[in-house]
Amino acid sequence: MRVDVLVVGAGFSGAVVAERLAIHGRKVLVIDKRPHIGGNAYDEPDEHGILVHPYGPHIFHTNGMRIARYLSRFTEWRFYEHRVRAKVGDRFVPIPINIDTVNRVYGLSLTEETVAAFFESVREPRSPVKTSEDVVLNAVGRDLYEKFFRGYTRKQWGLDPSELSASVAARIPVRTNHDDRYFTDAFQYMPLEGYTRMFERMLDHRNIRFEGGVDFFSMRQRIRASHIVYTGPIDAYFDHCFGKLPYRSIHFEHEHLPETGQYQEVGTVNFPNDYDYTRITEFRHLTGQSHSGTSIVREFPCDDGDPYYPVPRPENEALFKRYEALARDATEVTFVGRLAQYRYYNMDQCVGAALKAAEGILERLGLDDVQPAQESTPRVRATAPASSIADHSRHDASLPAAAARTGAT
Ligand code: FAD
Ligand code: UDP
Repeated sequence: MRVDVLVVGAGFSGAVVAERLAIHGRKVLVIDKRPHIGGNAYDEPDEHGILVHPYGPHIFHTNGMRIARYLSRFTEWRFYEHRVRAKVGDRFVPIPINIDTVNRVYGLSLTEETVAAFFESVREPRSPVKTSEDVVLNAVGRDLYEKFFRGYTRKQWGLDPSELSASVAARIPVRTNHDDRYFTDAFQYMPLEGYTRMFERMLDHRNIRFEGGVDFFSMRQRIRASHIVYTGPIDAYFDHCFGKLPYRSIHFEHEHLPETGQYQEVGTVNFPNDYDYTRITEFRHLTGQSHSGTSIVREFPCDDGDPYYPVPRPENEALFKRYEALARDATEVTFVGRLAQYRYYNMDQCVGAALKAAEGILERLGLDDVQPAQESTPRVRATAPASSIADHSRHDASLPAAAARTGAT
């Protein structure tokens, strides 16, 4: 196959760009150094037949209905709202912090009328709010900061919250109601047959070829393509010429528990203060799969290993900017995605960035038939494949209604 565009990386960013270019008649070769498509969102049945996420739990949520509609061309959906508990002392309490969290930690009986005054009485006002420590102290004060954020953050990043940008802790809101969902996005659904199946459909086009187990750097001299889309770490592309850009990694420990109906009450339990791991996720909550046993994963953050997280702090942003300046001059390549743009993107943000990048590339390649991404109305089913859903089928608002309720576009 003649190749117009080489896409490095078959995760969300690479797959979306490849699909868009292929639809517009471009021949695309997608490579990944891993043997499979899907990037970090890849899922597969473990040896016991339970669908797991080898690279950590991935829960899809978005307020971008354009993104949901785009992905709906490749998957049906199953309603799932993620819930997380944090172990503080001997209790498992809701995180994000809400009224029930405060009441259970302190033995209080606060209500929606009184909880704001409570936060006001314990918070340590900070101005300006620059670091993740500032964010949390400013909202809930020192005791809740130490119980829920300090230890978790130090484990996750190997840094104190005072050394991380505000944007990291700002991902976790503080609630003055009883809402114990981890996310409040308008669209909270998992791909019905899993992420990998969705990627298979996305890349199933006569203009796309995928080659797994191929490292870009072992073949970059031999590439004959009009354009490259690169979704790996940006510093590696430029041979780390300004020094290494820090990325945080995670070591995942998967475990199967036979004949176990349910390991934990909710999808994820966070351990801010105990153990070397940050959290345990039980996959059956996420997928709704029924099975006589259950599979869980523990996350041990580390520096060495595959790059998973950009590390948001001013000096890293400054270093990234130097690489970004090189990237601007390298017109033969487009950098897109969490690693290449050094942005703490969720999956939906990668899709949004990739759709935008694809439009730019099509313009640059001189096509005049750039069209907006085709969209489908999300199709929702309340059942997971080959299973009944135990406790998680409370779905039912239709999507347009759900979107209309929140005004999502
Ligand atoms: P990736 O998925 O990392 O894909 C990049 C690909 O490029 C990789 O497959 C890699 O092997 C390949 N590659 C890199 N260098 C080379 C090379 N030299 N040659 C060939 N191939 C190369 N987001 C959510 O929205 N919800 C969640 O619940 C969620 N949970 C997460 C949990 C964890 C533990 C992690 C790490 C991330 C999570 N995310 C979540 C974020 C999500 O994983 C990312 O937003 C998204 O998957 C990134 O897609 P990407 O294509 O940009 O990068
Ligand atoms: N965080 C924390 N305690 C928690 C949950 C989150 O301190 O119980 C902080 C921590 O710094 C974490 C960040 O908030 O890295 C973002 O959390 P999120 O759950 O979004 O992380 P991700 O799922 O991306 O790993």
